[in-house]
Order: sequence, then structure tokens, then C-alpha cells
Amino acid sequence: FKLPVPLNEPLKTFSPGSLERENLTSAIKELKASEKCVPVIINGERIFSGNISDQVIGGDHQKRICQFHEADETLTRRAIEEGLKAKKLWQRMPLEHRASVFLKAADLLTTKYRYQMMAATMLGQGKNIYQAEIDCITELADFWRFNCHFAEKIYEDQPLRNNVGNWNRVEYRPLDGFVAAISPFNFTAIGGNLCSAPALMGNSVVWKPSSAAVYSNYLVYKILEEAGLPPGVIQFLPGSPQPIVNEMLSHKALSGIHFTGSTFVFREIWKQVGNRIESYSSYPRLVGETGGKNLHFIHESADLLNAAANTIRSAFEYQGQKCSACSRLYVPDSVWPKFKQHLLTMHSSIKVGPVDGTVVKCFKIDFTNFCTNVINKQAFDKIKSYIDYARSSSEARIIAGGECNKFKLNQVGNDEKGYFIHPTIIETSDIHFKTMKEEIFGPVLTVFVYPAKEYEKYAEIAANSSEYALTAGIFASERSIIQNLEEKMLYASGNLYINDKSTGAIVGQQPFGGSKASGTNDKAGALMNLLRWTSARAIKENF
Ligand code: GLU
Repeated sequence: FKLPVPLNEPLKTFSPGSLERENLTSAIKELKASEKCVPVIINGERIFSGNISDQVIGGDHQKRICQFHEADETLTRRAIEEGLKAKKLWQRMPLEHRASVFLKAADLLTTKYRYQMMAATMLGQGKNIYQAEIDCITELADFWRFNCHFAEKIYEDQPLRNNVGNWNRVEYRPLDGFVAAISPFNFTAIGGNLCSAPALMGNSVVWKPSSAAVYSNYLVYKILEEAGLPPGVIQFLPGSPQPIVNEMLSHKALSGIHFTGSTFVFREIWKQVGNRIESYSSYPRLVGETGGKNLHFIHESADLLNAAANTIRSAFEYQGQKCSACSRLYVPDSVWPKFKQHLLTMHSSIKVGPVDGTVVKCFKIDFTNFCTNVINKQAFDKIKSYIDYARSSSEARIIAGGECNKFKLNQVGNDEKGYFIHPTIIETSDIHFKTMKEEIFGPVLTVFVYPAKEYEKYAEIAANSSEYALTAGIFASERSIIQNLEEKMLYASGNLYINDKSTGAIVGQQPFGGSKASGTNDKAGALMNLLRWTSARAIKENF
């Protein structure tokens, strides 16, 4: 028995007037028109806790996409205990049975639920059509399909030496306990993967989605359920992090954490786990993908148009709210005037606007209707404070964006209607300037211009001046320079792109994750990630 070899899910074009565009427009209309209420789900049972919160539409924050019922400590404990019971049968199922759930879910997602899911991600998380599609449709389907393929590889016969009279095998058991999945707002696919990867390997998972992505994540759960996921294997617990996460961390059976979010929160989790280490029945596996302060390093031999277009895309697509977004840019002085011209020209064609059926697809250097809102007030205030800091500093200058009062269409610079911030480019003379160091998680790019002749020295500084190491892009055309930069950047990132932007890893093509303060580098959508959800037993038998 062999599972199908996966292919990446293709993108649709969504050209105006097309059937898929019409379907999407109706799904958005439908979603705006109806009141949605999301429950806590334990063993498939819908629980209306009565402790209700809103998931607000960041582009029009007088409105909400749904209300949701929050889980508390008691419900979390119940979810864990019931999940452990459900695991008993689930873990004994052969891979084909478990995989069929995720393969079917990928098919349901890309057919029946395609438009509904895109509408939920577009409105709820503030994405344009293209950004929504590469997240909640293609990446999520790819995670589900490729993970099955990688799991099969793990379970395949292994090249162990057998002797006359005895043989050996390794059994990849699920972890002895439950896995806590804690997911962020910025990718629906990440939530879907954080809960599904451990479940595929036979674990029971208690999933706490981000409060800013509850509705799309609820759809993920419903699709898995419709695809045949047995009740209790994944428990769905929306709500404020404190009570839910505390309860998960204080349970004896905590055997793993699958996390994507901020460095600060992951460190807090790690500390709590450390403090309680004696109370657990095993050492919990901690798998985290956290922050980034990603760089593009331009060499003077680079194709400047390509480098500029990729920088704009990396820094500003999805309003810079990707862990992988480029936020530090190093450009040699010999090409800076020309490069700056390219950046400013491209920047001036960027449109910022609310998500609706008219937001067009954006490919390559088509920047029309490119940016939407940032996720919420907290994000808006934080990003704005960095822009204000740069504006008032003598070491920096805003060369594009910032105030943006030209952008009358949008509420840029204030948050009366939606949380819109104009993509901003800062130029600094201080290579260690605050906005070159700290993760902003918004549409803010800082440029440092270095002396072209000293590119090696500055590549080294760029590589080593951040506590983060998630993604990096190098742009050069000479082979020896590329190799040299690759070496200089050895520990600057977990994903390195050569003449390409630092965002947009594709499952099955570029396993994704970083090291240092950026995470445990267990690569989402890869065999090595799935291995973390197993506890191997080596068996020797004499006969
Ligand atoms: N995997 C995404 C990318 O390559 C980023 C994920 C994240 O923001 O955490 O752009």
C-alpha cells in the first residue's frame, strides 16, 4: 500500500469576471451578512461556555467576523483528559487510516470550502486574495498532503542490520501524553499544521488558536471533522491564552508543544516548562517557530530591479506580518541612488485598502491593492510607535510612507475605521539602529547603505548583528560572491534565498524554520518535524 505522491496545490487566477472571482465575492458577502458564533469543541461536542469574545474585522473594526466562546481552566483540563482517551484508538490505527483524514481534508478544502475559507481568512486576518490563497488554500492543503507523504517515509522499513536468529526494528510510537498546539493569527495554514502534524503521528492534540484567527481556524477544525477525524483527537479551545496555556503546562501528561508566535511568549512557556520539569511524566518536546528580523543583503553585482521588487514584496506583502518578512536591507553605496529610485517607484504604486471582493490579485511587481490593514489596535500602536521613533531620530530618515497623508482613500495614520498603516521605508546611518534590531511585525523596512568595497565586512555584521536567524536573502550575480555571502551568512538564517525574497516558503520545496531566537528549527512541513511527535522504540527479537 502506497499513499499518493503529493503535488503542490495550484493557484487560481481570480481574474475579474471569472467564476472563481464571483464565488469568492459571494462568499465574502455571505460572511459579512451573517452572525457567526464559534464554540469550544471537546470530543466533537459544541460547548457554549458563555464567556464570549469578538473576533474583530481589522479593516473595519466596528464590525466583527464572529463571536466566540472561550475555554477556561476546567474545560481545558477536560479537553486534555478526554483527548487522552480518544488517543487510545487513534494511535493504533495504521497510517493509511489516519492519513486518509488529512488527505480528504485537503480535498474538501480545495473544493467545497475553498471560497468560504478564503473569505474567512481575508476578512478575519486582513489578507488580499493572493495572500489568502497562498496561505489558507495552497499551503494548508500542501501541509496536509506532504505530511502524509513524509509520515509514510518515517514508517517505512529501515536499514537496520539483522543477524541469524534475531531481528531488529524501530517502532515510531506517538508521544506518551498530549501535545499542546498554540497558533498565531498570521497564517491559517500554520494553525492547521500545528494541530495536524502531531495528530497525524498518532497523538492527541489540544489546540489553542489565536483569538484574531478564530473563525478561519474553526473552519479548519470543521473540515477535519467532516473528513473523518475521530472526536477528541484534536480539541478546539479558543479563548484568552493565560488560563488555557497555564492549564496545559501544568498537566502531568504534557508531552509536547507545537508553537508559532512571539519569541517572548515561547521563552515564557519554556521557562514554565523548566520550572515544572519534575512534575511531567516525560520531557516535553518543545517545538517553536518564533520571531524574525530578516535581512536582504544586496551586492553591487545584483540585478537591481529584481532585488528591489523582491524586497518590496518581502517587506510589505501581508503588511509585513510574516515572521519571514524582510525588515533590514543592506545596499552598497555604489548602486544606492539607482536602487533607491527603483524602491521608491515601486513603493509609490502600492495601494492600501480594505479587503473586499474588489481587492485584486497581486503577482510579481503588480502592487495595486497590495496592502490591507494590520491585524489589531495593539499591532497598529506598536508599529506606529516605531515609525514615530524613526521620525524623531537624528540617525534616521523616513524616505517613503510614514505619514502618508497622500493616502486619503484609507485611514492611514489613524485608526478610526480600520488599522491601516502605509508601508514605510526608513534610511539609517546607524547599522544598529532600533528598527534594524527589533522585530516590528508590520510594514516597516529599514535600509543601511554600506561602502561597496567593504561588502565582506558588512555582510558579516549583517549576519551576526541580530539575535534572530529566521530568513535571509542575498542578491548578487557573480558565482564567487554568492558562495562567499552564503558562507558569511552561515548562521544568519534557517532559510536562505539567493536572488529571491525571504518570504513564501513552499511546503515540499523549502522546509521552513529558523534558529537562535527564531525557533527550534524543526522545519514546518518536513519529515524532521513529524519525527518530533514520535518516541521511537527499538525492538530486538530472538527467534
Ligand atoms: N512560512 C512563511 C513564509 O515562508 C512565514 C511563516 C510565518 O510568518 O510564521 O513566508
